[in-house]
Amino acid sequence: MKVPFLDLSLQHRALREPALAALTATYDATRFCLGKDVEDFERNFGATLGYPRVLGMNSGTAPLHVACMIAGFGPGDEVITSPFTFISSAWGINYVGAKPVFADIDEGTFNLDPAKVAAAITPRTKGIIVVHLFGQPARMDEIMAIARQHNLFVIEDCAQAVGASHLSASGSATPVGLIGDAGTFSFYPTKNLGGCGEGGAFVSRREEIQTRARHVRVHGSDRRYYHDIVGGNFRMDGFQGALLNVKLPHLAGWTARRRAIAGRYLSEIKLGDVRLPEQPAYGKSVFHQFTIRHPRRDALREHLTKQEVGTDLIYPVPLHLQKCYANLGRGPGSYPVAERAAANCVSLPIFPELTDAQVDQVIRAVNSF
Ligand SMILES: *Cc1c(COP(=O)(O)O)cnc(C)c1O
Repeated sequence: MKVPFLDLSLQHRALREPALAALTATYDATRFCLGKDVEDFERNFGATLGYPRVLGMNSGTAPLHVACMIAGFGPGDEVITSPFTFISSAWGINYVGAKPVFADIDEGTFNLDPAKVAAAITPRTKGIIVVHLFGQPARMDEIMAIARQHNLFVIEDCAQAVGASHLSASGSATPVGLIGDAGTFSFYPTKNLGGCGEGGAFVSRREEIQTRARHVRVHGSDRRYYHDIVGGNFRMDGFQGALLNVKLPHLAGWTARRRAIAGRYLSEIKLGDVRLPEQPAYGKSVFHQFTIRHPRRDALREHLTKQEVGTDLIYPVPLHLQKCYANLGRGPGSYPVAERAAANCVSLPIFPELTDAQVDQVIRAVNSF
């Protein structure tokens, strides 16, 4: 039996009829840019996941860009982020002319290490982009304490963490994206909640930030043809809103299934030398990825391929070693934890439609290496 790393066709085949009905209604009403479907989605997403205000945008990169514009980052400013993430986490910093500065990650969770963040702060530091990587909330209590101390604007990249909450030491649970100053989501088709094209969202616990983002989303305007601030076109299209409304009611079930599969991997993978992702008390992962580490990663991956188990390398090259960031002058050895993770991690299949028999096969395949 083949176990694909990811198969999007299963979910889309199951939802074909309601999805096509919703898309057809949007088509017939010519609700192509924002409009009722997007407004419904914003309201439903907020009500389901606990966000007071939500703005649909046209990718997951868009709200990161918007957040960097609103934060007021610019030339001469430094913004700290993780070197072990999708490149898009850092792009917004470049788009506004500021400089990305990386801080190394925590060995067990792949997320920013607060001590490394504190050590990376200079008089030019203006903000932090925290990534809740693979669906695992980052250590927000410590990161927010550092941010408050240095008056930094905090953006949470929640592209992989839709539905996740962070539990603070005081015991209160907060949905990711509402802890810092702005939170961003992606509905790229492979994400836990995926559209039929490009999509994203912007949230903020701060009403004035959310209002500003709403204006930036439509060319810096509140009234048509009057532009009070510099904006852009960051609008979600109607088809994405329509499809996401069909999918949203299934998200809780899909997340529960991802967690159940992860629970089996965590308890049944027994291979020596394998390192499983840590499960800290401050935040339950929504398992966008299940990424393990092994000193002989490439051989393990080859073995899994032979056992018909699909895998992926997420991420093979940390950001500071990407060619586009060569000008930052951070060569090999600059962020050793991220570099080790890139060298020895491999991601296992974890999409909700996997059958129990397929999960058995993944576990058997790993354990037989
Ligand atoms: C997917 C992703 C993004 C970007 O989203 P797009 O919708 O592809 O623009 C940003 N950050 C992270 C961590 C992601 O995984």
